[in-house]
Amino acid sequence: MIKVFENFEFSRVGQMQSLLESHGIKTFIRNEYGSSVVGELPFVEVVPQLFVLEQKDLARAKQLLLLDLPMESSADDWVCPECGIDVEGNFSRCWKCGVNRCD
Ligand SMILES: [Zn+2]
Repeated sequence: MIKVFENFEFSRVGQMQSLLESHGIKTFIRNEYGSSVVGELPFVEVVPQLFVLEQKDLARAKQLLLLDLPMESSADDWVCPECGIDVEGNFSRCWKCGVNRCD
């Protein structure tokens, strides 16, 4: 069993499981009911985790997860204060001159 994904929100892990299963990849979720015991166990032990059962599916699973994962930040585009160029919201520094985004 190989862990491919974990998230504190079980619904996210469930989504990923559905995604992989829909592509014929066998999966397993650990800590499925973990959220009900948060506070009683060390946090790390109750994070829902998604595993693939077979090594041969690993690469494909990771690829699917990558495609499906939303961008970490869905921030709006911003304008570099230094050179005035438009920078995509998921960059924290200007791709042209390297200036850090200032909020
Ligand atoms: Zn710039």
